[in-house]
Amino acid sequence: MTDARIIDLLGDRSRQPLLSFEFFPPKDDEGVEQLKEVAHQLKAARPDFVTVTYGAGGSTRERTFEVCAILRDMGFGPVMPHLTCIASTRSDLERISDTIYAEGYRNVMTLRGDPPKGRRVFEAAEGGLSHASELVRLLKQRYPELCCGVAGYPEVHPEAESAEKDIQFLKEKVDAGGSFVTTQLFYDNADYFRFVEDCRKKGIDAPIIPGLLPVSSLKQARRMTTMCGSRFPDRLSQALESAGGEGEEAEAAGIQWAVQQIRELLEHDVPGIHLYILNKARSGLDPTLHECMKQRNLPL
Ligand SMILES: Cc1cc2nc3c(=O)[nH]c(=O)nc-3n(C[C@H](O)[C@H](O)[C@H](O)COP(=O)(O)OP(=O)(O)OC[C@H]3O[C@@H](n4cnc5c(N)ncnc54)[C@H](O)[C@@H]3O)c2cc1C
Repeated sequence: MTDARIIDLLGDRSRQPLLSFEFFPPKDDEGVEQLKEVAHQLKAARPDFVTVTYGAGGSTRERTFEVCAILRDMGFGPVMPHLTCIASTRSDLERISDTIYAEGYRNVMTLRGDPPKGRRVFEAAEGGLSHASELVRLLKQRYPELCCGVAGYPEVHPEAESAEKDIQFLKEKVDAGGSFVTTQLFYDNADYFRFVEDCRKKGIDAPIIPGLLPVSSLKQARRMTTMCGSRFPDRLSQALESAGGEGEEAEAAGIQWAVQQIRELLEHDVPGIHLYILNKARSGLDPTLHECMKQRNLPL
């Protein structure tokens, strides 16, 4: 089985905006069973593609490909594994890319990866790669037809020297062969619009898909702000607080916020909507979300 390339789906205006969901590989077999159940429910949303993140090491890495295979068997497609430079030599990455290609995957989310827990600074493995652009180059040299997605940061990557430098390095990833950009999560669309404008000014023409994480509690919101450096609008904090901070009502308030973001993004002709669903079905099945996707001819 050979997947379609996401860049080709993005090239077909009649399919836009694409809807995609991001899963993460669970730590144990029980988590895999739960993921299957969630994925089964999410089939009703008919996403155009799904992605599976890549862990910092150990068993979750192997599970990335296990989960990709499960999603494929369930009829999702294309399925896009993520791949990072973390703790891998160049030859490890070549070997992994050979397997990815041989198994018919034609899309890879191509990343540097975060420093391991407890470390603040990224260090390349001995004989490994330091930046995502190098991994894009490696993959494209080996398999020119692979479609590489790359990460973009509307609120600037936390380690970046400046917003300008960050966009310059994003351009390097795209020039190396990155076909499209998926953004880090954000809660204020103004950050995304500004980012897209800045990218275009710097000559980045690739489609830029907004990534959204419908927040489910105040606690999660605080964790996300620390982890990703995302700004959290006061109005959203207030909405979560009024809904009790956590539990079903808070989750509904978080989804409501994401739906409002999606409505506005669709008015601006975004190429797709990527949902960080955190292996939960609720946001991906939200009826209002479906309503706004339907308005844009998405066959649901
Ligand atoms: C859509 C998406 C999916 C993700 N999936 C995963 C995942 O599956 N697994 C995971 O571990 N993490 C994942 N991440 C997190 C990501 O790995 C981190 O944000 C990481 O810190 C940076 O990765 P990158 O690919 O953007 O790196 P890079 O593009 O290499 O950038 C990292 C930093 O280095 C700077 N930089 C880039 N090139 C150069 C250069 N040539 N010289 C000097 N500085 C440079 C950039 O400005 C930036 O500050 C994901 C992020 C996003 C947005």
